[in-house]
Amino acid sequence: MSSTKTIGIIGGGQLGQMMAISAIYMGHKVITLDPASDCPSSRVSEVIVAPYDDVDALRQLSDCCDVLTYEFENVDADGLDAVIKDGQLPQGTDLLRISQNRIFEKDFLSNKAQVRVAPYKVVTSSLDLEDIDLSKNYVLKTATGGYDGHGQKVITSAEDLEEANALANSAECVLEEFVNFDLEISVIVSGNGKDVTVFPVQENIHRNNILSKTIVPARISDRLADRAKAIAVKIAEQLNLSGTLCVEMFATADDIIVNEIAPRPHNSGHYSIEACDFSQFDTHILGVLGAPLPAINLHEPAVMLNILGQHVEAAERYVTENPSAHLHMYGKLEAKHNRKMGHVTLFSNEPDNVVEFGKGIDF
Ligand code: AMP
Repeated sequence: MSSTKTIGIIGGGQLGQMMAISAIYMGHKVITLDPASDCPSSRVSEVIVAPYDDVDALRQLSDCCDVLTYEFENVDADGLDAVIKDGQLPQGTDLLRISQNRIFEKDFLSNKAQVRVAPYKVVTSSLDLEDIDLSKNYVLKTATGGYDGHGQKVITSAEDLEEANALANSAECVLEEFVNFDLEISVIVSGNGKDVTVFPVQENIHRNNILSKTIVPARISDRLADRAKAIAVKIAEQLNLSGTLCVEMFATADDIIVNEIAPRPHNSGHYSIEACDFSQFDTHILGVLGAPLPAINLHEPAVMLNILGQHVEAAERYVTENPSAHLHMYGKLEAKHNRKMGHVTLFSNEPDNVVEFGKGIDF
C-alpha cells in the first residue's frame, strides 16, 4: 500500500495552508474545500469551491480523499457525519460539537477531563442572572458563535448587568467568574489516536481580544509549566486525540485554569515552524494519519508577532531591518483592518524588547 495519501482539508485559510504545506513536504496530496477560489490554500492545493456546509461538496471531497481534517471548529458536524466513510475523519465529530458550544465544552472540561475551569453556570435567560453576587466580577459568553471576544460581556457593575441581561435573553450563555490571571498561556498537544506529544508552554498577549504576540517558553515557573502541559495531555488523552489541539489557559500565581480548547493548530503555535524540531502542523498531519509522533524540542526561546491588515507595511520594514526574523505572509489579497495577514517569528531571549506591530500604531 502506498504511504502517499490524499488529504482533504475543510477550510483554506492560513491554518489550512500551513497544514497543506506540512502534508506536501511529507509527500502527500492535498485537496481543500473553501468558498473562496483564491483562499490562502489555493497557492498550495487544489480547491473545491463551495460553502463548508455544502453536503454535495463534502461528499465530493470525501470521495477523492483518504483522510479528512478541518482547519476550524465551525464545520457542520451533521453534514460531515452524513458523508464521511468509516475512520475517514480521525478527529471525529464529537470534538467539533464540544468546541462549538461553550456549555458542552465546560461540561467536558470540568466533568469528563476533570481539569479546573473558572466557576460557571449555564444561563438560559436573564432570570438566571437575577441573584448574582456583584461583589465578584464575571464574564457572560454566548454558548455558540463567539470568537475573539465577540458575544461576551464583562460584568463588574449593575449597569453591566443590564447589558448582560439583554445578551442572556438573546442566546444561551455561560456565566463565568472573572479570573484575575497573571498571564494567558496555551499548550499545543497532538495525538495519533494512541499516543500524544506536547509542545512547550506559550505565553499569549492579546490586543483588542486578538492575539498579538506569543512568547515561548512562557514566563511561568517550571512547576506551573509542567502542570499546564499535564493538563493538556490529560485533555488529549480523554479525547483519544487525533491531530493537533490547543488548550488555552489562565496562569495565576499558583494555579492553572483552563479557558477553552481549539481542536486544530492555533495561532499561538505558529512559532513551532521554526523554533521546534517539528511544527504543530507537522504533528497534526502525522496525527490524523495515525503515524508515530516525535517528542518536541524547542531549539531556542522565540517570539511570534501577528501581522494584521493595518501592520503589513510596518512588518515589511521590520524584516528588512531584521533579516533573521522569519516572515510568513498568507497570500491574502486584501489587507483589511484586524485581518490576520501573516506573522513573524524570531529567536529572542529578551521578549520585552520585541515590540508588537500594533503597539503605538493603532491601540
Ligand atoms: P475567549 O473567547 O473565551 O477566548 O475569551 C477571550 C478573552 O477574554 C480571553 O483571551 C481573556 O483575555 C478574556 N477572558 C475570557 N474569559 C475570562 C475569564 N473567565 N476571566 C478573565 N478573563 C477572561
